[in-house]
Amino acid sequence: MQSLQTLLRGLRELGRRLPIELHERVELRAWTSLKVGGAADLMVRCNTPEALSTVVGTLGEMEQPFFVLGGGTNVVAPDAGLRIPVLTLGGSLAGLEVDLDGVVAGGGANLTQVCRAVARAGLSGMEELFGIPGTVGGALAMNAGAGGVEICELLDRAEVLRPEGGLVQVHAGDVEFGYRWSSLPRGSGVIVRARLSLEPGDLAGIMGRMREVSAARSARFPRGATAGSVFRNPPGDFAGRLLEATGCKGLRVGGARVSQEHANIVVTDRGATAADVLELARIMRRRVRECAGIILEPEVRFIDEMGQEIPLS
Ligand SMILES: Cc1cc2nc3c(=O)[nH]c(=O)nc-3n(C[C@H](O)[C@H](O)[C@H](O)COP(=O)(O)OP(=O)(O)OC[C@H]3O[C@@H](n4cnc5c(N)ncnc54)[C@H](O)[C@@H]3O)c2cc1C
Repeated sequence: MQSLQTLLRGLRELGRRLPIELHERVELRAWTSLKVGGAADLMVRCNTPEALSTVVGTLGEMEQPFFVLGGGTNVVAPDAGLRIPVLTLGGSLAGLEVDLDGVVAGGGANLTQVCRAVARAGLSGMEELFGIPGTVGGALAMNAGAGGVEICELLDRAEVLRPEGGLVQVHAGDVEFGYRWSSLPRGSGVIVRARLSLEPGDLAGIMGRMREVSAARSARFPRGATAGSVFRNPPGDFAGRLLEATGCKGLRVGGARVSQEHANIVVTDRGATAADVLELARIMRRRVRECAGIILEPEVRFIDEMGQEIPLS
């Protein structure tokens, strides 16, 4: 772990010849959909694969941990902010290229834009994922899914940067995927790019399905600052059903409240803190454990100022 000054010196040097942007004291509430959290000491935006590779390699040599942030739609950023650098992917790392039977998308590409681009090209497979906020990298790290489709089903191959091993090409068959979980980043790996396999389909049918999916999402998800579902569904049941049955709707801690429309979604008001959300999630979990004997596991990632996941128990 390096001092901020040493890090800044090393990264500024890299910034002279590589397309990276350095930002100090970045408010994480502005970078996360739940709109809580303090400032990260340093954010490094890498705009090409080469820049990302050099930055990750340099941080690896310095034994400096970092946190990769995609769209910030599944992260509860800590009130104390982050003491380790936050890496984000921009420029060509957020680009996409549609081919005859799939798409190659950068880890920083917006998932909804990818869904739109492949649909316009008459490719089918991503309709159910339309409207899941965030990036392709975040979706692969979380194995995001909706409507019975998980992104892992579409993955052909991915390029992952590992601080200790450089860039590796990983085939879908070599990755373990579970429910809202994937081994692809394996610790601190960065998903640089991925190819998703799709099938040619009927343009009108694809567009029609996407409109239906979008309408269903608007009806299902409450408006406001949220991070989607707080808890994973336990086997054979729904977290939302269990939370509703135990009277969680409308519960409030400080500026965080359980949505009246969906018991598995926490909405924050202006001024809410990560501590409010954490405390509320603990109360929700405790209620379900006491009333139904089921232990809910979080889907959102509560992290501390070193980027480590905070356990709810
Ligand atoms: C309104 C709303 C609706 C939602 N609906 C759904 C839904 O239907 N289905 C669903 O599955 N999820 C849903 N989510 C949750 C969230 O959108 C997904 O988990 C999404 O895929 C996260 O992507 P992200 O880019 O925002 O990741 P982030 O929140 O930025 O990060 C999530 C995790 O992925 C890691 N990560 C991000 N990018 C990379 C990368 N390039 N390389 C390595 N690791 C990376 C981060 O370090 C972090 O651990 C919803 C969220 C909201 C706010």
